[in-house]
Amino acid sequence: MSDSRAFCPRCGDPVERSSSDADATDPLRPGAEVELCDGCYFEDFDFVDAPDRIDVRVCSQCGAVHRGNRWVDVGARDYTDIAIEEVSEALGVHVDVADVAWQVEPEQVDENTIRMHCYFTGVVRETPVEEQVMVPVKISRQTCKRCGRIAGDYYASIVQIRAEDRTPTTEETDRAKEIANAVVADMEATGDRNAFVTEIGEVDEGLNIKVSTNKIGKKIANKMIEEFGGTVNDAETLVTEDEDGNEVYRVTFAVRLPPYTPGDIIDLADDETGPVLVRSAHGNLKGTRVTTGDRYEAGYEAGNAPDARKLGELEDAVETTVVTVEDENAVQVLDPETFQAKTVARPDYFDPDAETVPVLKSRAGLHILPDETDV
Ligand SMILES: [Zn+2]
Ligand SMILES: [Zn+2]
Repeated sequence: MSDSRAFCPRCGDPVERSSSDADATDPLRPGAEVELCDGCYFEDFDFVDAPDRIDVRVCSQCGAVHRGNRWVDVGARDYTDIAIEEVSEALGVHVDVADVAWQVEPEQVDENTIRMHCYFTGVVRETPVEEQVMVPVKISRQTCKRCGRIAGDYYASIVQIRAEDRTPTTEETDRAKEIANAVVADMEATGDRNAFVTEIGEVDEGLNIKVSTNKIGKKIANKMIEEFGGTVNDAETLVTEDEDGNEVYRVTFAVRLPPYTPGDIIDLADDETGPVLVRSAHGNLKGTRVTTGDRYEAGYEAGNAPDARKLGELEDAVETTVVTVEDENAVQVLDPETFQAKTVARPDYFDPDAETVPVLKSRAGLHILPDETDV
């Protein structure tokens, strides 16, 4: 190795080359890899590169941390965890050092200041090195964009829950609230910071749900008609321009639930076959004739809104006594109001052994309904 003898370019001392530096004699880059002697090398050596201080912006509402140019949910238990994480991101160690190990001891100075005492060890040029640095971390409490928007009642979309010729039932509005919260929870779970429900407000005609994005509004509206039937229409309104001059639209999703819901008993216009107990309002209305027990389905034209009037609901049924079974088409029951025996139509779901049956007395007369548990 006598030929590889070189001299320190700074002080001129001879430098012993190790075999791993053999490529330093690359003829294409003469002198490029000429190395300093250990003395000169360590004079300039800087093991740890640490900033003078680190400023951490955290949201005082939700604990999110500002990183780069955005807010990130870190799920940290306290600010010390955040400080440790930020310091480890910000510190740099010299590339030549091998076997780097470090430990950090946080010292809480006051509510918003944590001194991070960091202790580093490693090996370079077969020499153990160590260094101690202290980095103060300043926590500043702010309000992240999302919390600011929530506080400012920001919303991008409204879902209006309405029903045709009626007001939505409690079941429908309760379910709409559940769906709204579930859709947002799902999006939050995927790390979407912009998903929130701004407000759920009951109005005379139904429910208004204000949400943070159009996507959420659309999901809620679609899920509602998937479960209850009906239609949804959307309409854009230009509300403002954003900071970059882009037009900002607010989208209203108007959900129109079908006029009749499962459990309604309706009397169809121009129909002599007797009232229908509604089973489904998806697509074409479907149900059961309460006179015969036969299946009914509205035609395509009528869809979920055949011309009819509502007589009552399954819930309105009262138990009454069966007096006698007359024949396969007729039964005598007690009129629940007058307590007089009355002959009524016998639907096929009527149990001839039953002592009492649920009946509905309405403008259309007295009808035997199926047991609620059968629906
Ligand atoms: Zn030297
Ligand atoms: Zn926040």
